[in-house]
Amino acid sequence: MSNTFDQDFCPACGTILPLPDGSSMIQCLLCRKIQDISVFHGAQSTVHVDFRSTRDERKESDAGDTVEGTMIQRKCPRCGNDEMAFTTRQLRSADEGQTVFYLCPKCSFQEIENS
Ligand SMILES: [Zn+2]
Ligand SMILES: [Zn+2]
Repeated sequence: MSNTFDQDFCPACGTILPLPDGSSMIQCLLCRKIQDISVFHGAQSTVHVDFRSTRDERKESDAGDTVEGTMIQRKCPRCGNDEMAFTTRQLRSADEGQTVFYLCPKCSFQEIENS
């Protein structure tokens, strides 16, 4: 690409405005109207900002209510599988201790233990 600089058009007469000479003001050669090109370029840069995509990604990882945790060596009392997923959750107040959840990935058996 040889001409990467955005050419602006005069909103009054449609003539291509001359390239800026360092200042943000350009005078149209045809109708002599003075344009502030920083307005054009400021509007262009905000179009590409997308806040929603990052917010959605974070929501997905937080909202996961399925019990997923560290796999530990623990025999499932139902199916005998020797690995269970281990997660802890703080219920109610801190002085009541945390609740430990065990989940068998094989049969979905859930064991809850209060410490
Ligand atoms: Zn003009
Ligand atoms: Zn099991």
